[in-house]
Amino acid sequence: MFINHDYINSILEETKNPTREESLQVIEKARKREKLDYRDIAILLATKEKDVEKEIFKIAGEIKEEIYGKRIVIFAPLYVSDYCVNKCVYCGYQCNNKFERKKLTQEEVAEEVRLLEAMGHKRLVLELGEDPVNAPIEYVLECIDTMYKTQNGNGEIRRTNVNIAATSVENYRKLYEKGIGTYVLFQETYNKPMYEKAHPNSLKSDYEYHLTAFDRAMEAGIEDVGAGVLFGLADPRFEVLGLMMHNDHLEEKYGVGFHTISVPRIREAAGVAMEELPYLLDDETFKRVVAVIRIAVPFTGLMITERETPELRKEIMTYGISQISVGSTTVIGGYKKRANNEDSDEQFKLFDVETDSMSAIEQLIDDGYIPSFCTACYRKGRVGDRFMSLAKSGEIQKVCEPNAITTLVEYAIDYGDERFKEKAINFARKIASEIKNENTRKITEENIDNLLNGKRDLYL
Ligand code: SF4
Ligand code: SF4
Repeated sequence: MFINHDYINSILEETKNPTREESLQVIEKARKREKLDYRDIAILLATKEKDVEKEIFKIAGEIKEEIYGKRIVIFAPLYVSDYCVNKCVYCGYQCNNKFERKKLTQEEVAEEVRLLEAMGHKRLVLELGEDPVNAPIEYVLECIDTMYKTQNGNGEIRRTNVNIAATSVENYRKLYEKGIGTYVLFQETYNKPMYEKAHPNSLKSDYEYHLTAFDRAMEAGIEDVGAGVLFGLADPRFEVLGLMMHNDHLEEKYGVGFHTISVPRIREAAGVAMEELPYLLDDETFKRVVAVIRIAVPFTGLMITERETPELRKEIMTYGISQISVGSTTVIGGYKKRANNEDSDEQFKLFDVETDSMSAIEQLIDDGYIPSFCTACYRKGRVGDRFMSLAKSGEIQKVCEPNAITTLVEYAIDYGDERFKEKAINFARKIASEIKNENTRKITEENIDNLLNGKRDLYL
């Protein structure tokens, strides 16, 4: 198995108190943008040297700026069913919790999609619990169809990422044939004993089956996979090395590693005994984890949701995070409930959902970010190893910024009031005027004019 526990534990033991010299050596490698090995990564996570810690955030920030500039990709989750046969100890949807379960009909899915489109979203993640009887693969496929075909004015979903339970090559092939974007699956924890403890007696109990899900997805043709760890279950240093080994395994075997990594932390949820969770991550450790992952895998998108506070999101965007959810809810039918001002219990505690999504987008602009609704790569077939080689060569950045600008302008025209429109378009024009490549600058400026003249969906 590619997650070698003895090997990870020996590295963690060996590096638990790194010397100043060892820490500085790794910083030097990071500064030169050399690839860090597992030992290096473990040292960066363990070092207690204050100036080294400062350097970690500084280098992570530089990498973020070099590769992602000021762009932040926007997405939202769409939860369609909370039927679940599993008993994940950290989740309010676990089957031991008794409440009335709900699965959206296709008409209800379409209704949620229309509300998300009215918020300007173009990129969704389909989410549901695991229940082969109440929510089988056929249901998932129907939902994907509905998401792609439901339009609302100029609104349309251009990339549907899918987060469903580990399944067979055959089922992954069905997802692939539906044209999904990224297949998302969190390992939750790479630590096998902890994994088994957190996932008792259920379909999700098999650590190896869960761990090899991406292998099966890739065998089925899916090229973009999104990983994640639920920080708080096991030693975070173990988890980060687990992520890196998993990523290396996929790179070696299929030529491409993770497209994205999500970094959720355990939060309060109904029926979850927080005191039984031994490794809950404090903010300082969490920030370090984000920065070290950014240095270790510069080209992998890093995602967070509104489970983190606005203040923390703002900080970790400066040195790590490249994709955030906006205006999201984890409740089944939650967008409609919110539109009708109905109360509902979230799967996890969320922050900032009181703020309407346009205010959140405006806040990003005020902070100097370009909120991006871009889905160009998926639609141009720039996926998997083709995407990664473009990303690693730096070529991709030449199109990300123009695309971020044009998608923001499209968003402002279609959804903003006059004040927002003016602000966002002026901001977009200013950024466009600073594009160094003359040809790209010209195309981007023309695209802004074309959007104002009624054209839509312009991208490079
Ligand atoms: Fe079910 Fe997912 Fe919750 Fe586990 S985390 S109980 S699989 S909904
Ligand atoms: Fe993402 Fe590709 Fe758009 Fe860049 S051009 S933001 S990599 S979809």
